[in-house]
Amino acid sequence: MSSTKRKMQRNESDSIFVEYRNAYICKSCRHVVLIVYIHDGTTPFLIECESCGGEAQSFMHVLPPVLSLPQGFEALEPTKEWYSPAGDIEAMAKLTPAKQEHVNKGGVLLRDRTDAKPIKRKIG
Ligand SMILES: [Zn+2]
Repeated sequence: MSSTKRKMQRNESDSIFVEYRNAYICKSCRHVVLIVYIHDGTTPFLIECESCGGEAQSFMHVLPPVLSLPQGFEALEPTKEWYSPAGDIEAMAKLTPAKQEHVNKGGVLLRDRTDAKPIKRKIG
């Protein structure tokens, strides 16, 4: 899979935009999963580790530059994304009632990375 698209851009006031990302680290096996936001919303502090099934704890959106600045670090592409199916009636109907409630309250759901465009956040 090629990933040559520019992910960092500058506007006229020279601000830098980076993908809105978070990461989680597993308390048991130390596996780190890097997640990008397709939609903004509430996310849990703990998620299940995709590697060992243990508890993975949020970085609270404070990522070291090597994880937050994509240029030149293609090996560190997010493997998951937070998204919201709100407004997609068919997608919402397929969710469990608990997940529907979560989404209706502004929560987002986790899935494997797609081609969806990430949210960009301004830094600097
Ligand atoms: Zn683990």
